[in-house]
Amino acid sequence: MVQRPRIAIIGAGPGGLTLARILHCAGIAASVFEKEAHALERPQGGTLDLHADDGQLALKRAGLEAEFRRIARYEDQGSRLYDKHGTLLFADDDATDSDRPEVDRTALREILLASLPGGAVRWGHALREVHPASEGTFALQFETTTEGPFDLVVGADGTWSRVRPLVSAYEPQYTGITFIEFGIDDADTRHPALAALVGRGKLGAEGDGRGMIVQRNANAHLRGYAIFRVPADWAARTFDFTSPYAVRTRLIAEFAGWAPELLDIIRASNDSLAARSIHALPVGHHWPNRTGLTLLGDAAHVMSPFGGDGVNMAMLDGAELGRLLIEHDDWRVGVSSYERDMFVRVMGPATHAAEAVATELSHLGPELSLQHIQGYLAARAAGAAATNGLG
Ligand SMILES: Cc1cc2nc3c(=O)[nH]c(=O)nc-3n(C[C@H](O)[C@H](O)[C@H](O)COP(=O)(O)OP(=O)(O)OC[C@H]3O[C@@H](n4cnc5c(N)ncnc54)[C@H](O)[C@@H]3O)c2cc1C
Repeated sequence: MVQRPRIAIIGAGPGGLTLARILHCAGIAASVFEKEAHALERPQGGTLDLHADDGQLALKRAGLEAEFRRIARYEDQGSRLYDKHGTLLFADDDATDSDRPEVDRTALREILLASLPGGAVRWGHALREVHPASEGTFALQFETTTEGPFDLVVGADGTWSRVRPLVSAYEPQYTGITFIEFGIDDADTRHPALAALVGRGKLGAEGDGRGMIVQRNANAHLRGYAIFRVPADWAARTFDFTSPYAVRTRLIAEFAGWAPELLDIIRASNDSLAARSIHALPVGHHWPNRTGLTLLGDAAHVMSPFGGDGVNMAMLDGAELGRLLIEHDDWRVGVSSYERDMFVRVMGPATHAAEAVATELSHLGPELSLQHIQGYLAARAAGAAATNGLG
């Protein structure tokens, strides 16, 4: 007899929502608990490229191909690399034939949310702890309430998962890389020279052990990251985030000696400035199966964004866990086969992301990045799956 578990998904990110949608399509209800108060509590971040074999495949299985095509920006897949003098080292401006279109995170979340029944996501529920309850079930402890019992709790709650400690003692470690994130609004109209510098896709620039990545998002928004190899507490010690002007001034000082047009990118940024320290779980992170608990996406295998695979892996995890829960009469078997396959599946992307973060900001300047891009193009020409990093 088919046994349907009572399922709680922690986290309404791309991974958790993909799982909820796949289950919903098969008539299986799941409760998604999300700490944010509502869908628009905060901007979801920048642009992501969804790959045919994982992110796009997950949306196809979720029956959201048409919705995806509506938000996909095939025209924004270009890539440029500059040195600190503003010399263009590499440009791939016509990548419209590539099948890794960009989507904005907010738009991606919107199509997933719209595909679920009202009330499927319980906003304003920040999980504190998961407690074992009677007969092998689990209860969820939130700030003021307890929910449950649930037969299966899926931790889709990102890097600092509150579910992970129940199955694994590992914690993400700082990779040595910190991003200062910034944005430029309405670039085509207000900053046409910068829009032209970035082109239709992504600008990378490197020199003096510093880096910059700027990506074109929808609505002519540019999102950028100033990249540093520094101790974990450096950003908090160095920048006064209560003053955007002071942050911009300090950033420009950090990039002293760089070409004026590259510094103009920082000068044009709006007041939404934030530090992001990049953490990762070890390559090959896994745990012994524990009935009633599992993880997906960043909760299971957060990796540096330089491989450009994190969201794609998270969504494929959601799709695969959903498929296996549906296909197996005993959901416990579905979960253990999901974990077994997932541990193997993420090895390649996690290895690639770890190598990419290890060579980021090499004192060889942009040379290693150039080699990396050339390797990517050769692999693409040969039809091999490869990634160009960070979207
Ligand atoms: C700067 C940066 C750039 C990146 N660029 C790329 C890129 O270009 N391409 C790419 O593929 N990947 C990129 N990534 C990685 C990508 O963002 C993640 O891999 C992806 O978002 C993982 O999806 P997820 O659903 O597993 O987790 P998340 O997207 O982290 O979603 C987790 C959800 O859980 C919620 N949550 C967290 N804690 C709790 C709690 N206690 N209770 C309830 N809810 C909770 C959060 O609010 C969130 O909604 C980037 C990451 C960073 C930091």
